[in-house]
Amino acid sequence: MSEQVYDVIILGAGPAGLQAAIHAVRRKVSVLVLGKLRKSSTFKAHIENYCCVDGDTGADLLRGGYEKASSAGVEFREEDVTALTEKDGAFALALEGGRTVTGRAVILAMGISRNKLGLKREGEFIGRGVSYCVDCDAGFYRDQTVAVIGCESAAVSSALTLLLYAKSVHLVCERLDVAAELADRMRQSDIIFHEGRRVTEIIADRAVQGIVLDDGTRIELTGMFIVLGAKGAVDLAAELGVALDAETMKYIATDKKQETNIAGLYAAGDICGPPWQVAKAVGEGCVAGLEAAAYAKRMKGA
Ligand SMILES: Cc1cc2nc3c(=O)[nH]c(=O)nc-3n(C[C@H](O)[C@H](O)[C@H](O)COP(=O)(O)OP(=O)(O)OC[C@H]3O[C@@H](n4cnc5c(N)ncnc54)[C@H](O)[C@@H]3O)c2cc1C
Repeated sequence: MSEQVYDVIILGAGPAGLQAAIHAVRRKVSVLVLGKLRKSSTFKAHIENYCCVDGDTGADLLRGGYEKASSAGVEFREEDVTALTEKDGAFALALEGGRTVTGRAVILAMGISRNKLGLKREGEFIGRGVSYCVDCDAGFYRDQTVAVIGCESAAVSSALTLLLYAKSVHLVCERLDVAAELADRMRQSDIIFHEGRRVTEIIADRAVQGIVLDDGTRIELTGMFIVLGAKGAVDLAAELGVALDAETMKYIATDKKQETNIAGLYAAGDICGPPWQVAKAVGEGCVAGLEAAAYAKRMKGA
């Protein structure tokens, strides 16, 4: 097994992840929460329809959950998970800083990403040079010039992956937001980094031919990967063969215990589908936390 082993590892520090942590730790198991409070969709929201609190901002709600969890013994690490694999009956999670941690049980509580670049011709050229998934499409761009647009761990990891395929890789980012170790790996690589820049135009005929940046730089390329946000639950889960809901194929399917089709792997909150509400997220988080703790104890024979 790799470096540090936890009974329960939770991906996501939003309402679902925090509530899962609070309930899991009360069962006397070791709990690690990965992810960033400020990246929760609750962080900038003003929540008025969640019972038992009044006038709290989303950030206040999250800070309250964080305090409760950490004072009960939950460990937090402000890092994204970049890969998730099953190993020796447990789960190995690669972190953006380069370390690996192992969890006997894992809860996916990474919310949903609704991020598009919002450029005029973006939708028109999906599949003809515009992609949102390096793991799916990198192979189509062997020996070509590509760009990744994004500033978070998934964007930088994607650019590093593309170096294995493409002739040259550009990374366009207004403000880098990753762990120092990942930033160093990127800066020491062959990635051409356009720091402080954003894309203003897609040049295309029948397929994408290039992009223009806000300082007028024109990059000729055949592929642009839009990777805004951390690696999504569905991408990470797909690597493990997690079943999605049969109706939309967009969300993680779970049973009433919030368990996925993979033993020991649970999911809670927005990633399990609508309604996207704090009340639903904390309810599912509670169930997932209790069930994951019980599973980890069974695995330990405790
Ligand atoms: C503008 C706005 C207003 C809203 N208003 C309301 C409202 O009034 N009432 C209401 O009930 N709901 C509201 N919502 C919805 C509510 O915010 C969500 O339902 C809730 O935040 C879902 O919680 P979650 O824990 O599932 O996901 P999120 O809160 O989105 O948390 C996701 C977490 O996952 C982490 N993460 C993502 N990827 C990774 C990775 N690869 N590795 C590790 N961690 C990762 C993030 O860092 C974050 O901590 C609003 C949402 C928005 C955007």
